[in-house]
Amino acid sequence: MATKQKIVCSFCGQEISKDKEYIRGLHGIICEDCLAAANRIIIDLKGAPKDSETSGKAALVEKLHVQSPKNIKAHLDQYVIGQDKAKRTIAVAVYNHYKRLRHRFLHPEEDVEIDKSNIIVVGETGTGKTLLAQTIAKMLDVPFCIVDATVLTQAGYVGEDVESILTRLLQAANYNQERAEIGIVFVDEIDKIARKGDNPSITRDVSGEGVQQALLKLLEGDIVNVPPKGGRKHPEQDFVHVNTRDILFIAGGAFDGIERHIASRLNTHAIGFSNQNNSVAQRENLLQHLTAQDLRAFGLIPELCGRFPVVTHLNPLDKEALKNILTQPKNALVKQYTKLMAMDNIDLVFDEDALDYIVERAMELKTGARGLRSIVETIMTDFMYECEAPQKGKAHKEVRVTKEYAQQRV
Ligand code: ADP
Repeated sequence: MATKQKIVCSFCGQEISKDKEYIRGLHGIICEDCLAAANRIIIDLKGAPKDSETSGKAALVEKLHVQSPKNIKAHLDQYVIGQDKAKRTIAVAVYNHYKRLRHRFLHPEEDVEIDKSNIIVVGETGTGKTLLAQTIAKMLDVPFCIVDATVLTQAGYVGEDVESILTRLLQAANYNQERAEIGIVFVDEIDKIARKGDNPSITRDVSGEGVQQALLKLLEGDIVNVPPKGGRKHPEQDFVHVNTRDILFIAGGAFDGIERHIASRLNTHAIGFSNQNNSVAQRENLLQHLTAQDLRAFGLIPELCGRFPVVTHLNPLDKEALKNILTQPKNALVKQYTKLMAMDNIDLVFDEDALDYIVERAMELKTGARGLRSIVETIMTDFMYECEAPQKGKAHKEVRVTKEYAQQRV
C-alpha cells in the first residue's frame, strides 16, 4: 500500500502542513515561513522596494486611457441622448479624477494633493443616470458596480453593511484588488437615505442618516475591511483591506420635490403640479440652479454633501428625446432589432407614426426611457414570432411595423 509522502522544507527541515504554501525548486522545497523570513532579510539589507504596494496599481493607472473632457463627452454622445450640461460636468470631473490619480502615481514626489471629484446626479428615474456612469466606466475599462442605497443599513442592523459596496466592486474586478481600487461605484437612490425631517425620532434612523454616516468613511478614502464573499453568510472568510482613496463614487437619485427647496432658496414661488407640461418645464428651470445647499435642505447631511463636490442634474426626457433614444444611440432599440432581423435577411422598418405611438405610451408610463424597452419588446416579440425569414439564397424581405400593429399589441 502506498503511503503519502511528507513534504518537508529543505531550509528549515520542518514538515509543511496542508494549509501552508510552498515553492518547489529544482533541488528543494521552500516553505511559506522561510519565504517570509527571506523576504524580511532582503528588506533589512536593501530597504523596502519603492512603492511596493502600489507598483502594480501604478502600472494599471499608467495604462488607463484617459481622454480629454471634450472626447469623453463625444463618447457619451454616442450612447446618451441630450443631458448636455450633465455630460460636460461629468466629463470634467472624471477627467480630473483620473488625472489626479495618474499624477499621484507617476509623480509621487510632488506634494499637492488634489481632491477627489465624487459626483451626485439628480434626475428623474429613467433619464440616464446609470447609463452615464456605466458608459464612462466602459470607456475607461475600469471595474464598475451599481448599488442600491435603500438596501444599506447602519452596521449591525438587518440589511447590508456599506462594506458590501466594495464586495461588489471586487467581484466586478474579478477579485483583482488593485483594479477594484481604481473603479467606479454608482450608488443609486441616494435620495432615499435622506434624513427624514429634523425631529430626532424615538426609533433610530438606521437606514437614513445612519447609512449616510457609514458611507462617509468609504467616500473620503480609507482602508476598509471588506468581506470578499460579502455579508454575514461566510463569517470565517478573511477580510480584504481595500483602499477607497481612488475609487470614484457617482451617486444618483430622483430627489422628488427638491425643486421646492430650490425655489424657496431662490425666493421664487413653486407653482402647483396641476399642469404636467408646466411642471416638467418648471422642474427643468429650477434644477439649473441646483446646489449642494438644496441637497442639504432635502436631508443629506453636510458631511456627505462635502464628499460629493460635483453636483449636476439630468432633465426630464420630452417626446423628442425619447424618440431619439429609440433610434439614435449606438445601441438604440430600433438598431438592435433591425440588426437581429437582418441576420435572417429581413429588412425591418418602423413607421414614423409607430415610433410616435411608442413614445406617447412611454410618456404615459412616467418611467423615462425605461418604459420604451418594455413597450418595444411587447410589440417585437409577437412580430418576430410571426415573421417568416426568406429561404436561403432568396432576396431580402422588407417588413414594416405600423402604428396599427403597435396599437394592437400594446
Ligand atoms: P436612471 O436615470 O433611472 O438611472 P437609466 O440610466 O438606468 O436610468 O436608464 C434606463 C434605460 O433608459 C436604459 O436602458 C437606458 O439605456 C435608457 N436611457 C435613459 N436615458 C437615456 C438617455 N438620455 N439616452 C439614451 N438612453 C437612455
